[in-house]
Amino acid sequence: MTPTSFEELALAAPIQRALAEQKYSTPSPIQAQSIPILLKGGDLLGIAQTGTGKTAAFSLPILDALHNNPQRTRRKSARVLVLTPTRELATQISQSFDSYGRHLRFKKTLVFGGVGKNPQIRAMQPGVDVLVACPGRLLDHMNEGDIELSGVEYFVLDEVDRMLDMGFLRDVKKIVAALPKKKQSLFFSATLAPQIKELAHTILINPTSVSIAPETTTAEKVDQAVCFVDKESKKDLLFNHLAEQQGKGLTIVFSRTKHGANKLCKSINSHGFEAEAIHGNRSQPQRERTLTKFKKGTLPILVATDVAARGVDVKDVTLVINMDLPNEAEAYVHRIGRTGRAGATGHAISYCSPEEHEFFMDIEKLIQQKVPVSINHNYHHEELAKLHARGLKSPLSTRDNGGKTRKGGGGGSRGRQGGQNRNPQGKRRSSNPTGENRRRRRRP
Ligand code: ADP
Ligand code: MG
Repeated sequence: MTPTSFEELALAAPIQRALAEQKYSTPSPIQAQSIPILLKGGDLLGIAQTGTGKTAAFSLPILDALHNNPQRTRRKSARVLVLTPTRELATQISQSFDSYGRHLRFKKTLVFGGVGKNPQIRAMQPGVDVLVACPGRLLDHMNEGDIELSGVEYFVLDEVDRMLDMGFLRDVKKIVAALPKKKQSLFFSATLAPQIKELAHTILINPTSVSIAPETTTAEKVDQAVCFVDKESKKDLLFNHLAEQQGKGLTIVFSRTKHGANKLCKSINSHGFEAEAIHGNRSQPQRERTLTKFKKGTLPILVATDVAARGVDVKDVTLVINMDLPNEAEAYVHRIGRTGRAGATGHAISYCSPEEHEFFMDIEKLIQQKVPVSINHNYHHEELAKLHARGLKSPLSTRDNGGKTRKGGGGGSRGRQGGQNRNPQGKRRSSNPTGENRRRRRRP
């Protein structure tokens, strides 16, 4: 039987109190299914996407365990290790531990690249209860003898699919090898590709699998529309939509490439709208400043790439605009999941040009819904709309180059993040939002 309220879960009173203060009343599906298993001490394989409430699913039972069994921390070690791919996610997880654990006493620290090592080393000296870390920097500290993991009792691998996309598999394996055999392990991923399954098998012992049907759940909460347009008309259409949206909440505009995001942001600015871009090429402090303004509501428009927007959790986003369509249908679900957070309704408008038509067909297949076609604008591409309605593919549609005429685009070079992470030769670029890969690659 799955619990329908937090009171039914046997969590310690101070945790219940924190949840009530956060106005959490009902556990999300992943929470309802995982927390009872985790409280019993078993390993967990959780398949769930961003926005499903995974952080509370793992942090609540872990906080409960720390509360019931307080212990002195070991030097340079942690009782709980949470590994997550990006600095943004690490920061959010850390904040969640703080808010769910606000009535508990525990020591916690964050470890990630792009910032100085010394404060992290100092924080780890006496040992902590909870360590939230990105793989690259953690491994550096381990290699330099500043962190050791033999005392870990709870190990969480968050967003594993993303972690592998970012090239962290080797680092993760090395970290896992340094963990003690006896521990409780939790493994979360949006997908279960063979490589991920294999990794899960090497880490988890008799795990219980919990799978949350994610695509449709997110897609159902968001009021979606597609505008069929020529790619030349997209900008004008965007300015119309941004004008309509003024005063109605925050907007995220998605661009497939970093370069595109920059250019787009400039032209949005030159049309009198206040917007800033976040993408892997901007420094961490820049990204953080932009995100803070956006969260506070002083910056109304954020221009983002898929990688940069991962984990951006801002409650008041009421509109997501897909300036261009992602070439992986799954990224669409991640994008529109940036709106309609925590039960609020959000709108997502996608611009589809004839060149991108197949990507759009992929998306509808994945979400198993027809996205309503918006004809309420001046740039409606009737011909494309007709083809689509008949289930026919536009002759201009081409999967290989993402709707862009780009020379040398190797068809096999697209990973999940497609044009974002790789150049046309299929080599990884240093677009890692944590700034970790860039530094790591300089190592022999
Ligand atoms: P994920 O890690 O799966 O992306 P998060 O743990 O970041 O998801 O949660 C997404 C959002 O939902 C956060 O803003 C979080 O505060 C909120 N949230 C999570 N669980 C609940 C709940 N049970 N009730 C209300 N809001 C919740
Ligand atoms: Mg998360």
